[in-house]
Amino acid sequence: MARVFSGVKPTGHLTLGNYLGAVRRWAAVDQYRADSLFCVVDLHALTVDHDPGRVRRLTRQAATLLLAAGLDPERCTVFVQSQVDEHARLSYLLECVANDGEMRRMIQYKEKAALERERGGSVRLSLLTYPVLMAADILAYGTDVVPVGDDQAQHVELTRDLAVRFNQRYGHTFVVPRAAHPEVAARVMDLQDPTSKMGKSHGGGSGIVYLLDDPDVVRKKIMRAVTDSGDEVVHDPEAKPGVSNLLEILAACEAQKSGAGTGNPEALSGVHKTYGSLKKETAEAVVELLRPVQQRHSELVRDPGYVEEVLRRGAEKARAMARPTVDAAYRAIGL
Ligand code: ADP
Repeated sequence: MARVFSGVKPTGHLTLGNYLGAVRRWAAVDQYRADSLFCVVDLHALTVDHDPGRVRRLTRQAATLLLAAGLDPERCTVFVQSQVDEHARLSYLLECVANDGEMRRMIQYKEKAALERERGGSVRLSLLTYPVLMAADILAYGTDVVPVGDDQAQHVELTRDLAVRFNQRYGHTFVVPRAAHPEVAARVMDLQDPTSKMGKSHGGGSGIVYLLDDPDVVRKKIMRAVTDSGDEVVHDPEAKPGVSNLLEILAACEAQKSGAGTGNPEALSGVHKTYGSLKKETAEAVVELLRPVQQRHSELVRDPGYVEEVLRRGAEKARAMARPTVDAAYRAIGL
C-alpha cells in the first residue's frame, strides 16, 4: 500500500481552499492508506514576516482542525513539523543537491518575493529554500503519494527531481513520490478575485472563506462573490472564472455530502438558472459542509490536553519513521 504524506502551513486560518483541495480527501481517503502522515508544517510559516505567538496559536489551531475534519490518530500520524528534527537535518542535505537556478524558477517564490518587495520588506532566504524543506518533509518518510491542491504541483515535481538526482549521485536512498490532485476544486479561487487562488496568507479579505467562519459570514461572503458578465450559468474557467469557481465549490460540497464520486461542475451548469440561485445554493452547501467540522472543533478546544497528547505521540512516531531514511542519506552523501 502507498505511503501518504501531506501538510498544511500555519500562516493563517485554514480556508475552504485548504479543505476542498486537500484536507477533506486526507480524512475521507488518504488516512486509510498504510502509515499515512499529516503534518502542520510550522517551519514553513517562518519564511515570511511572522509573529511568534501567532504562529504557535495557528499551529495548535491547524492541528485541532485536522482532527476536527476527521483525521483519526488511531489510523494516521498527525504531528507538528518542528517537533521532528529530521526535517531540518534532511533539508540541508537536499540543499546540497539543489541549485539556485531551479529554486528561483519556482512560481510561488517569484510571486511571494515580489509581494514582499512591493511591501518594502526584504525577502528571507528561507522563502527561496522553502521547497527544499518541503522536499525533505516528503522524502524523509519514503512517501509514495502526496495529496495536494494544484498550487503545489511544481514543488512536488522539484521533490521528484531532487530524489532522482540524489539517488543517481549517491546511491538509491529515496522513494520518488508523485502528487495526487483532486479532480474538482483542485484550485479554489478567491471569491473577490477569481483569477487568483483562495490563499490563507492573502490577508483577511472577504474573498476567503475560513473553516471557522460563522454561517452568516460564509453566506455573506458567497452572496457577494464576484461573478462574470452575461447571465448564463456555465462551467468555463477561462471565460467565466467567478461562476466556474462557485460551480466547483458546489460540486465538491455535493460529492462530500453524498459520499460518492468527486463532483461534477459541468453537470450542475444547466441546473442553475441565475447567478443568484447558484450563490444561494453554494452558500448553504458550504455552511452544511463546515457545520460538523466546526462542531467537532469546538469540542476539541475544550480538551487541549487531548490534542497535545495526539501531537506528542504523532511526533514520536514520525521521528521513528523518518530517522532510518535520514541517517541513510547522511551516510550516502559521505558523512
Ligand atoms: P495556503 O496557500 O493556504 O497557505 P498551504 O500551503 O498551507 O496553503 O496548503 C495546504 C494544502 O491546501 C496544500 O495541499 C495546498 O495545495 C492546498 N490548497 C491551498 N490553497 C488551495 C486552494 N485555494 N484550492 C485548493 N487547494 C488549496
